[in-house]
Amino acid sequence: MPHVITQSCCSDGSCVYACPVNCIHPSPDEPGFATAEMLYIDPDACVDCGACVSACPVGAIAADTKLTDKQLPFIELNAAFYPKREGKLPPTSKLAPVIAAPKVATRSGGPLTVAIVGSGPAAMYAADELLTQRGVRVNVFEKLPTPYGLVRAGVAPDHQSTKRVTRLFDTIAKQAGFRFFLNVEVGKHLSHADLLEHHHAVLYAVGAPNDRRLDIEGMGLPGTGTATEMVAWINGHPEFTDLPVDLSHERVVIVGNGNVAFDVARVLTTDPDALARTDISDHALAALRSSRVSEVVVAARRGPAQSAFTLPELIGLTANCDVVLSEADHALVIADLAAETDPLTRNKLEILAKLGDAAAPLRRPRIRLAYRLTPQRVLGDDRVTGLEFGVTGTDEVHTLDAGLVLTSIGYRGKAIADLPFDDDAAVVPNDGGRVRGASGAYVAGWIKRGPTGFIGTNKSCAAQTVHRLVDDYNAGVLSAPVHKHAALDKLVHSRQPAVVDAAGWHAIDAAEIARGGEDRPRDKFTSVADMLAVAATAPKPTVRQRVLAGLRG
Ligand code: NAP
Repeated sequence: MPHVITQSCCSDGSCVYACPVNCIHPSPDEPGFATAEMLYIDPDACVDCGACVSACPVGAIAADTKLTDKQLPFIELNAAFYPKREGKLPPTSKLAPVIAAPKVATRSGGPLTVAIVGSGPAAMYAADELLTQRGVRVNVFEKLPTPYGLVRAGVAPDHQSTKRVTRLFDTIAKQAGFRFFLNVEVGKHLSHADLLEHHHAVLYAVGAPNDRRLDIEGMGLPGTGTATEMVAWINGHPEFTDLPVDLSHERVVIVGNGNVAFDVARVLTTDPDALARTDISDHALAALRSSRVSEVVVAARRGPAQSAFTLPELIGLTANCDVVLSEADHALVIADLAAETDPLTRNKLEILAKLGDAAAPLRRPRIRLAYRLTPQRVLGDDRVTGLEFGVTGTDEVHTLDAGLVLTSIGYRGKAIADLPFDDDAAVVPNDGGRVRGASGAYVAGWIKRGPTGFIGTNKSCAAQTVHRLVDDYNAGVLSAPVHKHAALDKLVHSRQPAVVDAAGWHAIDAAEIARGGEDRPRDKFTSVADMLAVAATAPKPTVRQRVLAGLRG
C-alpha cells in the first residue's frame, strides 16, 4: 500500500524531508528537481508511514488505496519514475540531505530586519526561511489588502487543493517577527530608499505581473485578451473585475498550450454548478452561467511532443473534461509517438493518442487541442470574428472562427524602480538572488528566475536567496537601518493611512469564508473599498500591546 503523489503536487519538497527512507525524488539537492513536473514516490521503497501526507501543504499525497478513480493513473506515473526492480526494497533509515537553514550572526545595530515586497509563495517561503532564526524581523509589503499573490489570484478556482498552501502561509505569518503591511505599494507609497533606511535588506518577490504579448495584426480588437487577465478576472482580482469577457460566441481560441491555457479552457468548459462550489468570483460565475461557448481550441505553434502543459495537468484535464483532437492532429501524435524516446513525453503522447475525435458530435462544452498553428492575424473589423494561423512549416493558412481570442504565451516580469532590469529575460539580473550592482537588494521567485515552475519551486528558490542575504549580513556588508523599528509604522501610516495589518486581513478572510456559507470555501470581495471596510472592523491593538511593541522597537 505505497503512498502516491497526485496532480496538485506543488514541488516544495516538504515531503522529501519528512520521508524517513528518502523515497521521494527528485529531491531539492538533485539535478532534475528544478525541471521536474512533479515529485514521485518510489513504491518499492515506501514504508507507508504517511509522514509525507502530513508534510504536504496541498494535500497531494494519499495511500494508493485511498485514491479516487480519476487519480489512479498517478500510481503508474509515480512508479514509472523509478527503474523497474523485482520486489520491495528493504526499509532503510536514509534521509534526504537537508539544506541547512542560514545561521544569522549576532551583530551590533539590532537584529537582522528584512523588507519583503510581495506576499505570494516566493515571499512567504523567504519569510519562513528568515524566521528560522531567532530575533530576525520580516516586514511584508503587499499592494493589495489581501496576501498570497497568485495563490489567491492565479490558481484556478477548481484547484482548491492547491490553494490549501495558504494554510501554511497563515502559519508562517503568525510567527514572531513577521508583520504584514498590506494595501501598501512599494514604488508609490514607499520607495526602495525608504525601505533600505528601515531595514538591512529589501527582498523583492513581486512575480511577473505582465503578460508576454503576441505582436500580430488585430491584437487589441474587442474580443482579444490574455489568459492571465482572464484568470485574474475569474479569481476576483480587484484590478480585473471590469474586464470585458464576451462569451456569446460558441468558440474561444487560446494561443499557447501551457498550464495557464489549460486552466482557462477548463473553467470555460466546466459545468457552472460545479464551479459554484469553489471560490470563483461571483461576476465570473454569472458570466459562465449565460455562456454560449461550446468549444475552446487550445492552439500550439509546435507539435504534440513539444506541448508545454505538464503531464499531471493533462491527466487532470482529460479526467474531468471532454478533450478532443482533429484527425490531422491525431496523425501528428502518432508520428511523434513513433519517434519519441523520452518516457515523460511518451506518457503525454500516449494520453493524447487516446483522445476522442473532434468530428464527433458535441455532448457538452469541450476542449480541442490543436497543433502546428502559428498565429498570424486576428480577423474582424469592430471586434474579433476569428484567428488566422499559418500551418507551421508550410505555406498553408488555417482559419478558426471565434468570438474570443486569448493569448496564453507566458508571464513577463516588470522593471522595479531603482533596480537594474534585463529587458530580454524580463528579470532583475542577480547572482543566486543577490541583485547585481544594488547592495542590500535581493530577489526571489519569478522576478529572479523567470515565470517557470510550481508554487513549491519557490521554496528552494527563496532559500537560496536568503542564504546569500544572510551571508552578506554576517559579513557586515549590509548597512544597519538608519531609523528605529517603531519609525516604520509612522512612515507607513503617513504615506498610506489605509494600511491593512494582519488583524485586518484576518477580518477580510473570516468575512469571505462566512459569505461562502456551507457550499463554498469563500465568497471573495472583489473591490478594495469593500475589503478596507471589513478590515476596519478588526480589533485595534490595545494601548498595552502598542506600548510593548514600541518597547520591542
Ligand atoms: P508556458 O508553460 O511557458 O507556456 C507558454 C506557451 O506559449 C507555450 O505553448 C509556447 O509555445 C507558447 N508561445 C510562446 N510564445 C508564442 C508565440 N509567439 N506564438 C505562439 N505561441 C507562443 O506558460 P504558462 O502556461 O503561462 O505557465 C507559466 C508557468 O506557470 C509554467 O511553469 C506552468 O507550469 C506554471 N503553471 C502551473 C500550473 C499548475 O501546475 N497547475 C498552473 C498554471 C501555471 P512554445 O513552446 O512553442 O514556445
